Amino acid sequence: MNAPLLSCRDVSVDYIVGGGTARACNRVSLDIHPAETVGLAGESGCGKSTLAFAITRMHNAPALISEGQILYDGRDVLAMTPAELRAFRWAETAMVFQSAMNALNPVITIGEQICDVILAHRPVTRDEAWSRGEELLSMVGIARARMSAYPHQLSGGMRQRVVIAISLALRPRLIVMDEPTTALDVVVEREIMDELAQLKREYGFAILFISHDLALMGEICDRIGIMYAGNLVELGTAAEVLENPRHPYTQGLVGSFPSIHGPRTRLHGIPGSPVNLLDLPQGCNFQDRCPARIAACARVAPHLLPAGLGHEAACHLVTPPQEARA
Ligand code: ADP
Ligand code: MG
Repeated sequence: MNAPLLSCRDVSVDYIVGGGTARACNRVSLDIHPAETVGLAGESGCGKSTLAFAITRMHNAPALISEGQILYDGRDVLAMTPAELRAFRWAETAMVFQSAMNALNPVITIGEQICDVILAHRPVTRDEAWSRGEELLSMVGIARARMSAYPHQLSGGMRQRVVIAISLALRPRLIVMDEPTTALDVVVEREIMDELAQLKREYGFAILFISHDLALMGEICDRIGIMYAGNLVELGTAAEVLENPRHPYTQGLVGSFPSIHGPRTRLHGIPGSPVNLLDLPQGCNFQDRCPARIAACARVAPHLLPAGLGHEAACHLVTPPQEARA
């Protein structure tokens, strides 16, 4: 495969809080290649958004990137100066959040907001920025005339489309989407996902797609990573992870999602609740909820290791530690 566009190497992010240090991302290593769509899934609170923010250094106190390296096109993101970082965030990457549609300025028209982004970063005239804005709006399925509309005059789905249009304004090579359609109904979600697929074909950007909807991820992602309590516990091609999950947590997660193609079955979910990040057990973070744990799980934390072609898992059942083999 070609060189990664983004490469996270052993990235840890800690929240320094009154009661101690909560490690929301623990030595996460993840590559995103040009034009690739990588999904990230896992229960609420497992560290997905924390990683998404850290990638573009948009994390704020009390979050701290305590170790690791983030390389974008070979450049060290953690060493960028404020000016380099600003250019990187806007021109190279873009972020779309679940609640981004509510972040549009209510007293400024959609058109002005798109133009402001373009004019702040590109040497073009206002007229040129305006026509580019019209083009962007039509690309996300909104009539050009809506440039003069205020955010409150648009539906939630349209506002989220505007946010996607703004994120594309500077033609970034990587778009981080954190639950971009979670707040929308399924029909609007479907339309937006179809438009996104079309835009991706046209522009060839890479996406880090965070969602709790594994069926949706299976449709759009090339590879999928599964996080549990700050750890990346499984990573592989979308087909491998969804159809042949190796980690018991992923197996539970996949089992708890209705298959779009398969027969209708009762959802079982995963018994128990996520661990407290301020009080992690020795060994594997998932051991208390794991239906298949072995003695080694209480002693040794598993690492992400090859678990078959195009597939990695962090589980002693998949790749037994030395002490279990002995
Ligand atoms: P996800 O996006 O997967 O739902 P987050 O990345 O938002 O998870 O949060 C991961 C963990 O980081 C949470 O379980 C929580 O312990 C911790 N965390 C997140 N935000 C804060 C914060 N502002 N202050 C302290 N801890 C936080
Ligand atoms: Mg989140």
